[in-house]
Amino acid sequence: MTDQSLIILGASGDLTARLLLPGLGALLAAGHVPGLQLIGAATEDWDDARWQTRVSESFGFPYEKTRYLRADVTHTDDLRAVLAAADGPPAIFFALPPAVTARACEALLDADLPDGTRLVLEKPFGVSSETAAQLNNLLTRLVPEDRIHRVDHFLGKSTVLNILGLRFANRIFEPLLNSTHVASVDIVFDEDLALENRAGYYDRAGALADMIQSHLLQILGLLAMEPPTSLDAGELRDRLADVLRATHIWEDNPAAFSRRARYTAGSLRSRHLPGYAEEPGVDPSRNTETLAEVVLAVDTWRWAGVPFRLRSGKAIGDSRKEAVVTFRCPPRVPDGLTGHDQPDRLRIGFGPDKLALDFNINGPDDPFELDQVTLEAGFGPGDLPPYGEVLRGVFDNDPTLSIRADVAEQCWRIVEPVTAAWAAGKVPLLEYPAGSPGITDSLLTP
Ligand code: NDP
Repeated sequence: MTDQSLIILGASGDLTARLLLPGLGALLAAGHVPGLQLIGAATEDWDDARWQTRVSESFGFPYEKTRYLRADVTHTDDLRAVLAAADGPPAIFFALPPAVTARACEALLDADLPDGTRLVLEKPFGVSSETAAQLNNLLTRLVPEDRIHRVDHFLGKSTVLNILGLRFANRIFEPLLNSTHVASVDIVFDEDLALENRAGYYDRAGALADMIQSHLLQILGLLAMEPPTSLDAGELRDRLADVLRATHIWEDNPAAFSRRARYTAGSLRSRHLPGYAEEPGVDPSRNTETLAEVVLAVDTWRWAGVPFRLRSGKAIGDSRKEAVVTFRCPPRVPDGLTGHDQPDRLRIGFGPDKLALDFNINGPDDPFELDQVTLEAGFGPGDLPPYGEVLRGVFDNDPTLSIRADVAEQCWRIVEPVTAAWAAGKVPLLEYPAGSPGITDSLLTP
């Protein structure tokens, strides 16, 4: 499709420079959206030449069909001027602080958006189910829901398809993925990155809101959803919403089934890191957690009784990013065979996406002694970086990767009891040294 235009509000910001422009460059280089008109806007006093240089450097090739407009996006008149510069109905990317995004949406109410306008929003979508609902109401006064793209760049299209392909295009896994055969599911995103100068955002979010409420619940949805009949966006998003509606904190007891911690000073890959509370821009009295863990119940026929443990930590020595399905033990192993104390596990690793299956076979030496072995395979990588995939979905009017309004609200509803229990001091804020494995003394187990 030609004659598309993209307006980036917040063109001088970090997201635009680090992720958005490189993703867009990759999309254009792959031959998508030929002739795209790109408009950048922010309050910074830049001119077209400075912006063009930034765009061309990010893309890795010169790009001239772009201009920069100085605008305060909370003012309707400024927004009108930006919209007037677009050739056709634009996609508007809000690369803005969340509070500014909400004010820009209010200002757009009077800006006469052209039919066909698409809105692209970054997480966080609100800070609670109530604020998410307010934002959603505002957005649907601007454009229909199917033209709203709530971006979750963590789940690239290839990761979504990899999980669906594994589950639903094989006879040998899916029949086992239920409470009869599965003992527990862990979804872990422990990263070796620390705060990396993002205190302004992170200190108000923390691991629960930054990772579990958004990204890890999306993975839970894909792993636990019922089979969709097609990859149609409406169908997939319905199945995702079904399973998230059935999800809640284990026994509705966040004091027992959630955990929080923050890192203290330590050393990570021979780099000394200050404790989180000493990082510039952090207000230690906020008690922001850099590691969060929750146990969830998915109350469906398929999954009732199976704990889903979700965990994410920063500044962890051994970064580990995977979903692990742990199977129940076999009902009876013949007397005489030994070494079968480890359960079978299906592990899906993220970035790069890979698959591993741990199971017990008769080992190389004593044939009575079983050994756990691992079969491994790589999933196909996507052909675009995550933001390239996100933008392709926007330009193709394909909302598959976008978080639907009700799903955004459900994800807040699931974690809200935890936030409330933490605020009420019912769960202690533990500590772990940066570079350590985090909190490992005991698993949160029902
Ligand atoms: P920054 O603070 O780096 O950038 C914000 C941008 O908004 C700047 O270009 C600023 O421009 C502009 N801006 C602020 N107020 C106005 C205004 N009234 N009118 C016009 N422009 C305005 O934030 P980030 O880029 O880091 O984040 C943007 C969004 O992306 C946030 O929602 C964040 O949560 C999300 N996000 C960011 C990630 C990242 O890695 N950075 C990752 C995932 C999500 P100026 O100073 O010129 O006014």
